[in-house]
Amino acid sequence: MNILVINAGSSSLKYQLMNPDTGDVTAKGLCERIGLDGRLNHKVIASGKKLVKDIPMPTHKEAIEAVMDILVDSEYGVIKSVDEIDAVGHRVLHGGDKFVASCIIDDACKQAIRDCIPLGPLHNPANLMGIEACEKAMPGKPQVAVFDTAFHMTMPPKAYRYAIPTKYYTEDHLRRYGFHGTSHRFVSKRCIELMGGKNADKIIVCHLGNGSSLSAVKDGKCQDTSMGLSPLAGVPMGTRAGDIDTCVAQFIMNKEGISADECLNMLNKKSGVLALSGVSSDFRDIEAAADQGNEDCKLALEKFAYEVKKYIGAYAAALGGLDCLVFTAGVGENSGSMRARICEGLEYLGVKIDAEKNKLRGEEVIISTPDSKVTVWVIPTNEELMIAQDTAELAR
Ligand code: ADP
Repeated sequence: MNILVINAGSSSLKYQLMNPDTGDVTAKGLCERIGLDGRLNHKVIASGKKLVKDIPMPTHKEAIEAVMDILVDSEYGVIKSVDEIDAVGHRVLHGGDKFVASCIIDDACKQAIRDCIPLGPLHNPANLMGIEACEKAMPGKPQVAVFDTAFHMTMPPKAYRYAIPTKYYTEDHLRRYGFHGTSHRFVSKRCIELMGGKNADKIIVCHLGNGSSLSAVKDGKCQDTSMGLSPLAGVPMGTRAGDIDTCVAQFIMNKEGISADECLNMLNKKSGVLALSGVSSDFRDIEAAADQGNEDCKLALEKFAYEVKKYIGAYAAALGGLDCLVFTAGVGENSGSMRARICEGLEYLGVKIDAEKNKLRGEEVIISTPDSKVTVWVIPTNEELMIAQDTAELAR
């Protein structure tokens, strides 16, 4: 089976053609500068052949057409005809409280995604453009929407409700939704499989990348997660502030005479470890500068590890114990020093890291000692595979 996985942003569109049963990717790429001029970056996995080509992309429709053309191209293609694509899976940011699972895209589904635009104003319109462009380019082809929020829909009200006047929940649907759900689902499911279904009732997943979030998972179901109504909440991130006192925003708006949107832009794009380090939003740059003695970078790393550690403590309390702690995403999979920093002092919870195993990167590996009460894993995330698997299942 060939599943085309699409992740459409406002000016970009990522794609992968993959086999959902083996996880093998045959081709992948990125359309960028959509609406400006347009450029296709394409890679054939088996041969390693790459193509970068300027192609006019006034809208997402032309971007999808460029993807279709390159996939059947005589030199860079991997299929003979578009008919060989069995179904298309779309990553959709916000499913609000309407979607608890992935679904086949029909008019009702599209309307529901549209209804969630106030909750995901940047991403949902772009996701819809990607869906509609695929409908035009491949009429009749089954399409599936996979929501970043769906996995978190099992949270109980005490975790998802905000302690603000009820009408904002009943009328406006303001609540904790959580994001990275496809990753949290993939990684927690994989953890349970790898543990053979035993001693994996209570799992904390740390998805630590440019955007970071944690989730508390009991019996495979999400109980709580660190992001909220938007991806701004939780631990500090590359450029996002994470949890702050709302009065900080009020103070800054008053002092600078800026609007709420401008302030939020600052909290989303100019804060986090970028702001603390004064060097970069990229953890590799910050770690390198900290190693050279940069005190601001040391603080940025300490702050990040401290806030992640606090969430782990909170979620262990929420779950009533902890069986498995899982690290994933760019930082979680690759930075042994960050994992060590986070786990330091968690011995009281039963977390004991093996320093040698913790040096391993980018593979499924246990990094705790055999006598550690909590099994600590590194499990590389694969959101595209999860999307492809959901798509295949629903299309079948
Ligand atoms: P996104 O949220 O954009 O999907 P990723 O999960 O790809 O992000 O994570 C990107 C982050 O991972 C970057 O900050 C990058 O510096 C960090 N990262 C990648 N490799 C390493 C490494 N070897 N050591 C430390 N950080 C790393």
